[in-house]
Amino acid sequence: MNNKITNVVIAGGGTAGWITAALLNKVLGNVINITLVESDQIGTIGVGEASIPPISHLNGALGINEHEFINATQATIKLGIEFENWREQNHKYMHAFGSIGKDFPFCEFHHFWLKAKQQNHAPDLWDFSVNYQAAKAGKFAHLRNLPNTQLPGLHYAYHFDATLYAKLLKKLAQQRGVKRVEGKIKSVQQCQQSGDIQALTLESGSVIKGDLFIDCTGLSALLIEKTLNTGFEDWSHWLPCDSAVAVQSESANEPVPYTRSIAQNAGWQWQIPLQHRVGNGLVFSSRYLTDDEAKQQLLANLPGKAITEPRVIRFKTGRRRLQWHKNVVAIGLSSGFLEPLESTSIHLIQTAAIRLIKLFPHNGIKHSQVTTYNLQSKTEIERIRDFIILHYKLTTRTDSAFWRQCQQMSIPETLQQKITLFKQTGKLIREDDELFAEPAWQQVMIGQGLEADDYHPLANALTDEQLLALFSDLKALINHTVEQLPSHSEFLSRMKNN
Ligand SMILES: Cc1cc2nc3c(=O)[nH]c(=O)nc-3n(C[C@H](O)[C@H](O)[C@H](O)COP(=O)(O)OP(=O)(O)OC[C@H]3O[C@@H](n4cnc5c(N)ncnc54)[C@H](O)[C@@H]3O)c2cc1C
Repeated sequence: MNNKITNVVIAGGGTAGWITAALLNKVLGNVINITLVESDQIGTIGVGEASIPPISHLNGALGINEHEFINATQATIKLGIEFENWREQNHKYMHAFGSIGKDFPFCEFHHFWLKAKQQNHAPDLWDFSVNYQAAKAGKFAHLRNLPNTQLPGLHYAYHFDATLYAKLLKKLAQQRGVKRVEGKIKSVQQCQQSGDIQALTLESGSVIKGDLFIDCTGLSALLIEKTLNTGFEDWSHWLPCDSAVAVQSESANEPVPYTRSIAQNAGWQWQIPLQHRVGNGLVFSSRYLTDDEAKQQLLANLPGKAITEPRVIRFKTGRRRLQWHKNVVAIGLSSGFLEPLESTSIHLIQTAAIRLIKLFPHNGIKHSQVTTYNLQSKTEIERIRDFIILHYKLTTRTDSAFWRQCQQMSIPETLQQKITLFKQTGKLIREDDELFAEPAWQQVMIGQGLEADDYHPLANALTDEQLLALFSDLKALINHTVEQLPSHSEFLSRMKNN
């Protein structure tokens, strides 16, 4: 029997559908045919505008250069996320991308900082983040290394218009041979013996047959859940927000090169500055806030005049028990959902598409491929989940029932282990190739006020004078570098005019 996979059908044309189509086509376009079905009537979720640095690898792999991307999607630069009022009211810290200070063999910079902190003469940790300093100064240029040093320079991602990005990917994928079919999927045909999906029937009556189906139908999860009943692992006891209200506003100021995440009384608000407008939203718990209250709260805190009607989106946090089941692979919102606090969803689409390419079942689906794919997907999303829960768990806010619930809730053991290790020893270990590296965890733990009781003994290798000199040299180097950078707006206009 010929089990070769040659006809791949992607159901859904949101960011997930078109990223997957474009990437599969780019790498495997010579050996597979790709058909993508999308429904104009249903549309896409229409949010998802902040990214993390690996998106540049995706664009690179697709042959989209930065200039083209920034202009086509009205993108701005993102150097990190500023968290306001998360630890307590009127407190701010940033998860700035990139590293902090200068690492020594076996011992990260923050141990030297922890030592100084214990001696009560530590400067602000973010004095040693070039990303933070550039973000707050509103500056940006490509900077791989700090001048005349081996120290890393700026590490960045983008804010962009998700609808324009999907359009760009759609054009690219169609030019390269992906077949697009418009229409609403009405029914799904399965093999009676195996349960595998054989074809999709559209409302128009067209039948689309395939060997492998990729479910990119968003929160409706039409194939992986509604057809195959794969099951869902619910994480809402750890991540209490289940709703969002989104609205776009005029830009009142020059776009800042970072995302703002502002904690409110029953959730948090995002502000994502693009070139032509600002994306705003309030992620909230419907247990503590009605939709009308959420809309009012969001509209009262916009950086400019609203230019769209506020729209409520309901979601359930968690993951599909299997991301790959029978001949269906779920990518995007159909595979699970983590709220956008660290802008990780589009990244998860990227890694899922890459994982599928690496494990592609060209000679028929093997159990080993499916289990490896599912295990890797599970580990990846669980580590990100823990990082997001950390922000909520470490709050010291007691001014609302929502924040009190966050403080008191139980957390996954994997996260508890990380918090305890840091608290007792000051150490952080990156596990299983997890997405967020030590500097990200350090900044959120320290930013949220978690105090470490100890530091690595190698930090004692420097005398107090040497430590002070290290701090002052690094600060001077970073400040001097940031002073020389052009403003973020200058960078963007150069991109436009080139
Ligand atoms: C409030 C909120 C904020 C977010 N912010 C961010 C962020 O800042 N950064 C980030 O990385 N991610 C963010 N995300 C996640 C991001 O929006 C999604 O990961 C991304 O848009 C991918 O969505 P999707 O393609 O899976 O689903 P969708 O955009 O919903 O696309 C689903 C597709 O399936 C089609 N479809 C569905 N049913 C049928 C049918 N019966 N027949 C035919 N076609 C069908 C639809 O027409 C559509 O084309 C956010 C999500 C939410 C909810």
